[in-house]
Amino acid sequence: MSAAALLAGATAFLDRDGTINEAAPEGEYVASPDEIRLLPGAARAIALLNELPARVVVVTNQRGIALGRMSEDDLAAVNRRLLAELESEGAHLDAIYHCPHPAAGCDCRKPGPGMFEQAAREVPGVRLEGAAMVGDSALDVEAGRRLGLTTVRLGTAAAGDPSPTHESPDLLAAARWLLGGAG
Ligand SMILES: [Zn+2]
Repeated sequence: MSAAALLAGATAFLDRDGTINEAAPEGEYVASPDEIRLLPGAARAIALLNELPARVVVVTNQRGIALGRMSEDDLAAVNRRLLAELESEGAHLDAIYHCPHPAAGCDCRKPGPGMFEQAAREVPGVRLEGAAMVGDSALDVEAGRRLGLTTVRLGTAAAGDPSPTHESPDLLAAARWLLGGAG
């Protein structure tokens, strides 16, 4: 066991698509509840974080809303299904924040800090101090780095991508590493 990167009472910020559930193909969006498919080990990973206990907050860019590919109601239905599937496996999310905006012009679209800061203001117990960000894209790593968070990249960073604190193959390995184990 190495030292844990995430301590009891801290916050784990997680990306959604490609981190917890299967991402849609490039240029497409998870726009209907029937398209939610949990990735292997993702619910177990979140349950481990719940047990620490850590707050677990999803921060997800959903530009498909700005593009007219889905509505806020569609996204809410997708998120309800995600929560239900996780709950059925004993995993709990404290909050889900999304950015519905286009690629520029707001401060909430990752790598901007808006969703993280809003969660810290609104969700009891959520803090940026000591928090971690886990996601499968360079935007996730960049967002976390700007806020001084521990960052875990799922998969391998491409050349030129910001360097994460750690790379893990999937969310379960990432959670185990955050808790002080291998991964
Ligand atoms: Zn935004």
